[in-house]
Amino acid sequence: MKEFDYIIIGGGCAGLSLAYELEIHNKLDNKTLAIIEPRPEYKKDKTWSFWRVAPHNFNDCVKKNWQNFSINVPNKTKHLTCSTFPYQSIDSGLFYEKITNKLKKNKNVDFYKNINEISLENSFIFDSVPSIKTDNNNLWQHFCGVEIETKNNFFDDEIINLMDFDCDQRDSVHFFYTLPYAKNKALVETTWLSKMNDNSQKDYDGQIKDYIKKHLKLKDYKITYKEEGAIPLFYPSYTNSLNKINIGIAGGMTRLSTGYTFLNIQEHSKYIRKNIENINSTKIFEINKKYQFLDKIFLRVLEKNPEKMPNIFFKMFNGSSKTVIKFLSNKSNFLEDLSIILKMPKWIFIKALFK
Ligand SMILES: Cc1cc2nc3c(=O)[nH]c(=O)nc-3n(C[C@H](O)[C@H](O)[C@H](O)COP(=O)(O)OP(=O)(O)OC[C@H]3O[C@@H](n4cnc5c(N)ncnc54)[C@H](O)[C@@H]3O)c2cc1C
Repeated sequence: MKEFDYIIIGGGCAGLSLAYELEIHNKLDNKTLAIIEPRPEYKKDKTWSFWRVAPHNFNDCVKKNWQNFSINVPNKTKHLTCSTFPYQSIDSGLFYEKITNKLKKNKNVDFYKNINEISLENSFIFDSVPSIKTDNNNLWQHFCGVEIETKNNFFDDEIINLMDFDCDQRDSVHFFYTLPYAKNKALVETTWLSKMNDNSQKDYDGQIKDYIKKHLKLKDYKITYKEEGAIPLFYPSYTNSLNKINIGIAGGMTRLSTGYTFLNIQEHSKYIRKNIENINSTKIFEINKKYQFLDKIFLRVLEKNPEKMPNIFFKMFNGSSKTVIKFLSNKSNFLEDLSIILKMPKWIFIKALFK
């Protein structure tokens, strides 16, 4: 069976981002790479959005940039700006197309559907397939979004609604997220932060329909695209091995308090590319420990006090939006961390700390 220098298991966001990063820096000119990806074809299946706090390779896959966002709790709305770090949405369809077209041109890169088709000996493996036990004790961010189109202009396409908590909470944490791509086109997403021990929150279609009708007060629209997913708000189990690194969600690249993963994946890819010649002895890349610690406490508070979370998120955005964005995107300094921590209700966070 054919042997390769590198094997990437899972040609999704992390696998393809890494392959692309290696390719454009000529790291695959004299090295062979196999990408194992079972999907029959690449098509748009996700929209990756984030505040652009760091450069990435996919500016040409950006659907839209925004410099304004809002947060709602019942009877209160906060309007914020993010001109320093615009909020961006990447179309996964364009991303897959760009990368696969580039990789096809390199004869050192091969795609396979199944790992059994190649030899694993003498290869360095990058694994993006997480081993996640679906037990009932972990928190997930689970969601469903639809892209809708209206005949007439309806949306203000200059401002996104990042979190609208003015909706049925069902003893959990629930918000709607609206990204207006144009005046007549938007992604409307229902998002839950909860344990997924039953299906009682998964009547997503009804939730979205209701929200569009009652909150947006929109009657005439058509659905042009739908996406559904769940992001683990815990780190998948990880087995250290000399010839393997986990990447993507499997490699702990999700910021647990927010679910944001895309930009962390890009930073991880750059780190691997810079160290590829000594990858066996390179330190494992991880999200800064201070965020891991703070997110753990935040999620304990969320688990114990779901009813308080809308106001906690709302309060977090008091003051400078730039500071909060930096904090939520792993770019804040000590004083910025402190300013966020001081906005949190003290007693429930202290209790969570000593749990
Ligand atoms: C619908 C959705 C929307 C999201 N939106 C955002 C967002 O807006 N912003 C953000 O920062 N993050 C977002 N995320 C979180 C995260 O960025 C994405 O999940 C991202 O795709 C994670 O990349 P990954 O490579 O770890 O996983 P994936 O992109 O899922 O890639 C894993 C790949 O492994 C393949 N695979 C599965 N089983 C096997 C196997 N046995 N062998 C080989 N390959 C296998 C899969 O087909 C897949 O292509 C979103 C997640 C989802 C699901």
